[in-house]
Amino acid sequence: MPSTTAHPALTTLLDNIERAAKDGDDPLVVFDLDGTLYDNTHRTLRILLEFAHTHASRYRSLYDTLRGTSTRQLAYRVGDTLAGLGFHDPELQAAVTEFWKARFFTDDYCLYDLPLAGGVELAQLVHARGGVPCYLTGRDAPNMLLGTLRTLQRDGFPVGRADTRLILKPQFEMNDDLFKEGVIHHLRKTGRVVGSFDNEPGLCNLFKSSFPEAVVGWLDTSHAPGAPALRDDVLRLEDFTDLLGAA
Ligand SMILES: [Mg+2]
Repeated sequence: MPSTTAHPALTTLLDNIERAAKDGDDPLVVFDLDGTLYDNTHRTLRILLEFAHTHASRYRSLYDTLRGTSTRQLAYRVGDTLAGLGFHDPELQAAVTEFWKARFFTDDYCLYDLPLAGGVELAQLVHARGGVPCYLTGRDAPNMLLGTLRTLQRDGFPVGRADTRLILKPQFEMNDDLFKEGVIHHLRKTGRVVGSFDNEPGLCNLFKSSFPEAVVGWLDTSHAPGAPALRDDVLRLEDFTDLLGAA
């Protein structure tokens, strides 16, 4: 439950849910997964460690360095992470990036993800108040649906019920932004979007312009390079405890 120090935007979100429900609409609260509800840096670090452990005889210093590396030292791109740790060899960077790519977008490896602070509590609160959590992710269903479902269920997110939605890309190759734009058209016809949370500034801007009444929150975790400036009316959050307030 939110404390007395809960963010006013949480009150707005819960009021939005109540109003939509009273009108007979499904109150949709859209949550992105990677970089929003889930911290996937643990997945990346696990893959880098796997490379280091299985190539230790050839790359001893990489093994020694990665064993003492924390998720906070990871950059958006694997090559930049390695450069930041002092490994500038382009061949090594390419080999590790390939190794990472072959594993990162899979059921097995997304199990290493951990929920961002307060995410589970917020989704549960939204659900308990009659909101419909919509997990909308650029992950693709063929490679990641089962792992995604497993982590959501493991971590206590409301999922697998009539009053929740889980939406993945039908194909890996599809562009994330175009995919989400298409989904927005569908959501408009099947409910009322009253809240939306994402770590990509461009997508937050898109949701706010598509649903001006919704509470739209940007998670300041990490995002693709070259992102546009965030609109002023989008909420800036470090994690979801900023909304829930201290216990
Ligand atoms: Mg994301």
